Amino acid sequence: AKKSSRKSFFFYNNELHQKLLMRLNTENELQSALYNHQFVLYYQPQVDACSGTLIGVEALVRWKHPERGIVPPSGFISVAEETGMIRDIGWWVLDEACRQMKKWQERGPLKVPISVNLSFNQFHDDSLVKRVCFALEASGLQPEYLELEITESTMAEDLERSIRRLKEIRALGVGVSLDDFGTGYSSLSYLKSLPINQLKIDRSFVLDIAQSNQDQAIVTAIVSMAEHLWIDVIVEGIETKEQLRAIESCRCRAIQGYYYSRPLAENDFSDKYLA
Ligand code: C2E
Ligand code: CA
Ligand code: CA
Ligand code: CA
Repeated sequence: AKKSSRKSFFFYNNELHQKLLMRLNTENELQSALYNHQFVLYYQPQVDACSGTLIGVEALVRWKHPERGIVPPSGFISVAEETGMIRDIGWWVLDEACRQMKKWQERGPLKVPISVNLSFNQFHDDSLVKRVCFALEASGLQPEYLELEITESTMAEDLERSIRRLKEIRALGVGVSLDDFGTGYSSLSYLKSLPINQLKIDRSFVLDIAQSNQDQAIVTAIVSMAEHLWIDVIVEGIETKEQLRAIESCRCRAIQGYYYSRPLAENDFSDKYLA
């Protein structure tokens, strides 16, 4: 028994070593990725389930790696967060998303906002408001067509400071959506003090919603609470018709999920929504 546990120890150690190497490698490559234009945005539609119309678009970053192909955020965002590189990547995402939406609006009637994810580092960066203004001015996009997605955990650390931040953003005319709603602790009590205009119910509430009365009760409660606070609700991660039916019975109409569409490359998105 001793021998085998020793073996597995070495195996584990080696695996750890491999992981470290991968990580260092990713870190080095990330440095140059921005300058080599290896990041691209994918776009996922947000849809009104009743009418089937497009109500928004979320921009999601991908890394077009020369050897590894399209790398999803799970393959690099955490390294980028830890090294601080997420900021430069994030500012690029902001500029690019605004530019793309303006371009689409010039080509056809696309009167919906584009949502951009903000990392912790970006939200607390003193240059945030300036960066947002710059992205709007440089692209010519009107502020009501930009929405920033911020998670609860990003704001949890210093609530008062975060509220001031949110007010500055809202003063620009830009929308704010509370991402991954329901995964934090404090959700309900502080919601009324947050100047947000949308909350995004996390996918974890959707997974079993077709079978779970409890999840349905929670989502129904969130929807009615948000209604009283004049906050819009969207649900993410809808994959099946059953989930869609269950969500609709919770009186939630705004949907984002594979059921309608996966995130699409720029051209695929224009083919589908600007035809
Ligand atoms: P998120 O902001 O919660 O984005 C939603 C994620 O769920 C996306 O994954 C999307 O592709 C995925 N998704 C959408 N519908 C479904 C569905 O029906 N089923 C399932 N299983 N998944 C669905 P993605 O693009 O891999 O992004 C993962 C996370 O990476 C995002 O989660 C966000 O936290 C982060 N991220 C993505 N782009 C950016 C960015 O530009 N900046 C920052 N800071 N973070 C980003
Ligand atoms: Ca929205
Ligand atoms: Ca998001
Ligand atoms: Ca989310």
